[in-house]
Amino acid sequence: MTEYKYIIVGGGAAGISLALNLLAEGENDFIILEKSSILGSSWDNMPDHLTLISSDHHNRILEENSPFSKLYRVPAKDFSKYLQEFQSQIKDKILFNQKVIGIERSTNSESSKWLTKTKERTFHSQNIIWCTGYFSTPYIPKFVVNNESTIHFKDFKNALEFRQKKILVVGKRLSAGQIIKELMEAQCNVHISTRSEIKFSPNKWIMNLLLYFLDPIEKFLLLFNKNLRVKEDIKMEASFAKKYFDEDSVTIHGDILEIDNHDVTFLNQESERFDKIILTTGFRPTPPPNISKVDFSQLKNHFEHPENPGFYFLGFEQQFNFRSRFLRGIRKDAKVLAKHLISSRK
Ligand SMILES: Cc1cc2nc3c(=O)[nH]c(=O)nc-3n(C[C@H](O)[C@H](O)[C@H](O)COP(=O)(O)OP(=O)(O)OC[C@H]3O[C@@H](n4cnc5c(N)ncnc54)[C@H](O)[C@@H]3O)c2cc1C
Repeated sequence: MTEYKYIIVGGGAAGISLALNLLAEGENDFIILEKSSILGSSWDNMPDHLTLISSDHHNRILEENSPFSKLYRVPAKDFSKYLQEFQSQIKDKILFNQKVIGIERSTNSESSKWLTKTKERTFHSQNIIWCTGYFSTPYIPKFVVNNESTIHFKDFKNALEFRQKKILVVGKRLSAGQIIKELMEAQCNVHISTRSEIKFSPNKWIMNLLLYFLDPIEKFLLLFNKNLRVKEDIKMEASFAKKYFDEDSVTIHGDILEIDNHDVTFLNQESERFDKIILTTGFRPTPPPNISKVDFSQLKNHFEHPENPGFYFLGFEQQFNFRSRFLRGIRKDAKVLAKHLISSRK
């Protein structure tokens, strides 16, 4: 039986960043379990047109080594390639096609505490670090019962297959704006369903300026509140779709009561038929099996499950502050966690 000191679940930005930091600290006794066949698969599976919203240098996963220029919106696929390049440093410290389906405390082993189960194998370790991110858990609202006419943003690749079709986009944030732009360019009849008023971010130039100075702005805000939260009310980016709303080319509906295949009934009892319904309803943290749910802002030392010593999280909202789920936070948190794990010497 092989026993590891650390099992890292997930080979995305968080898992890779932690592995690189452990190696830099001289720690070799770990393995990453990744459910797909490449590093950074979440970003590889994203829609063809998607770029990261955070610009350029914020997106690296190590302090040193920024391959992106200062005002460059990195395409998701390029970001995935950037992550895949770390394979040469991680070498055989990752096993692919190993989806973790069960976590248990071991009862009969002398030293290992945890059993991590995939379909074919059981891994023993003293610690587990859960780095599964958000992309594996799309949020599907309750009114979606029949999936035939409905897809989630995560399964949208590009608008070509929807050309000239009547499409309902559900949601009003960043990804809704990105998809609406593409659908309009593909001459679709675009409708949107939203619970509340659609708000737009500032225009492209102001956005670029804000993104350019993002780091000092955030550092300044964190000086006053180190656990700073940001409002969940993320706006649609003006440069994507605002002009289509200004010219009334997008039909706006209220919230949905039910969807019966292609027929959608809205809360105001109006019904309409659509060729496709695209959910841009976001993602949720991917939870570990059999581990009780926690508030990520209440973890022990920002990382450890309060009732499960040796079970850690990395890459989730508010572990330190709002940056913890973004690449610029993950990069910093991974360094702190690696040092914490080494100094604990569990
Ligand atoms: C739509 C969207 C856009 C975003 N845009 C940005 C942005 O522009 N900039 C930014 O900084 N942040 C952005 N984020 C936040 C994003 O979550 C982080 O940037 C980053 O990708 C998180 O890295 P991660 O390693 O935590 O998750 P991921 O990159 O998703 O990696 C998780 C890995 O875990 C694997 N996995 C999942 N479940 C299992 C399992 N059971 N067993 C084994 N492996 C498993 C997955 O295959 C994946 O490889 C965005 C998030 C979303 C949802």
